[in-house]
Amino acid sequence: EESRLDARTTASKAMYEQAHHHLSGGVASSYQLRDPWPIYLEGGSGSRVWDVDGTEYYDFHNGFGSMVQGHAHPLIGKAIAERFPKGTHFAAPTEDAIVVGDELARRWGLPKWRYTNSGSEATMDAIRIARAYTGRDTVMKIFGSYHGHHDTVMVSIGFQDYDDIGPADNLTSIPYGAGVPQATVDMTVAVPFNDAAAMERRIQRLQTENRLPACVIMEAAMMNLGVVLPEPGYLEAVREITARYGIVLIFDEVKTGLTIAAGGARERFDVLPDMVTMSKALGAGLPMGAIGGTEEVMSVVEDHSVYQVGTYNGNPLCVAAARANLLDVLTPDAYAHLDHLNARIIEGCDDVIRRYNLPGYTVGIGSKGCVTFSEYKVVDYLTYRQNQREDLADLAWLFNMNRGVYMTPGREEEWTLSIIHDDAAIDAYVECFDEMAHELTKD
Ligand code: PMP
Repeated sequence: EESRLDARTTASKAMYEQAHHHLSGGVASSYQLRDPWPIYLEGGSGSRVWDVDGTEYYDFHNGFGSMVQGHAHPLIGKAIAERFPKGTHFAAPTEDAIVVGDELARRWGLPKWRYTNSGSEATMDAIRIARAYTGRDTVMKIFGSYHGHHDTVMVSIGFQDYDDIGPADNLTSIPYGAGVPQATVDMTVAVPFNDAAAMERRIQRLQTENRLPACVIMEAAMMNLGVVLPEPGYLEAVREITARYGIVLIFDEVKTGLTIAAGGARERFDVLPDMVTMSKALGAGLPMGAIGGTEEVMSVVEDHSVYQVGTYNGNPLCVAAARANLLDVLTPDAYAHLDHLNARIIEGCDDVIRRYNLPGYTVGIGSKGCVTFSEYKVVDYLTYRQNQREDLADLAWLFNMNRGVYMTPGREEEWTLSIIHDDAAIDAYVECFDEMAHELTKD
C-alpha cells in the first residue's frame, strides 16, 4: 500500500522537492508533515478534495474538523464575496461581530464573548483570563490533550521517551518538544481523563503546596486519540470539584464546538463550564477563534485588567463568514443530517468489525467518529498508548488514501463528516474498511 501511494503522488513528490527550498520541511505547519513526502492539495468542493496529481478524494479530514460545512459552500462564498468590496480589515468592530456573539451566547448559554484568530490564541487568552480572575498561576489539563501551540499547554501531550510518568494522581509534567521553558512546564499539571478522583487528589495535593490551579482546561470528549467519550458522571464530577475549589472550568471546544452539536459539548453533555474556547468550524474555513465566559470570569476583560487583544480579532471577513455559517448553514437540519450520516458510517464499520472479528470498536458523536483499533476500551491517554494497534491504524490510513478516502496523516485523528457528505461518501469509507479487513484476514 505504501509504494502504491508513493507511485500515485509523483506531482506531490516534485512539489515537495520545490517546497523544501524555502519552507522548513516543505510544509507550513509540522502537522502537515508526512513521510516520505506530504500530499499537496489543489482544491476542494463540497465533500471532495483533489491533490496536485489530480486524484479526487472524499474528504474525511476536513481541515482537522474545520470544514463541517463542506468546501466552498455557496452561502459562505456569498458572505465573503459581499464583504470583500466593502473592505476586509479595519481593526474596528463591525455589526457581524455582534451578531456572531449573540448567536454563540444563545447556543452556549454563556453571556460574554471575545474573538481570536486561532484555537491556540483562544486557549492562551482563556487561561490568562482564568489566572487573572483567580489570582493563581497553576494550570491543570488532561494528560494527552492538545490545546494549541503556546508554551503553557505544550505540556503533557505525550510521553515519547518516558517509560514511567508516575501514578494517576501525581503525573510528571512533560514538555511537548523542545523550547518550552522548564518553569512553564512546572506550572502545568496533568491528570488522566475520565478519573475525577485522581483529579481531586491532585488538587488537594496542590492545595497543600499552596498552588491551587487557576483553571482546568479540557476537552469534554477527547478528540485527539480518535474520539474518547466521557464516562457517565465524569463531567458532572469535574464540574462539582472545580466549583468547590474555585477553579475556572474551561471546555476547550475548538474541535467539539459546532461539530458534535449546534451548541457543542456543552449542549451534548449538558454541563455548563465557566468558559469555552472555540475555533476550527466557527470560521467556516477562515481563521477565527472565540472565547466565551460567564459575567463573573469575563469581568476581568471588561474592567481592562486583562488585555485580550489582537489586530485581526473580529476580522470583518471572518465574522461575515461565521455569521452565515451559524445562521444559515449549520442549522438544526444540518445537525440531523450529520447524525444520520454518522449512524450509517458507525453501523457499516461495526458490521465489518463483527464479520472479520477485528480487534477494534467504533465511537461516534455528531460529525465525529473513528474506529479505535484496540481490544480494550480506551478511556484516557495511557490506555490508548497501551492498547492501540498502531499497525492497523497506519494501514487503515494507507488503504483509505489509495481508495479515494482522504484522512488526517496522524493515527490519532478521527473522521469529520460534513453536511455536504451523502450516503455514497459514507459507503465509500465503509467499503474501503471492508476491503482492508478482507485483505488482513484472507489467509
Ligand atoms: N484546542 C484543541 C482541542 C485543538 O484540537 C486544537 C488544534 N488541533 C487547538 C486547540 C489549537 O487550535 P489552532 O491549531 O487553531 O491553534
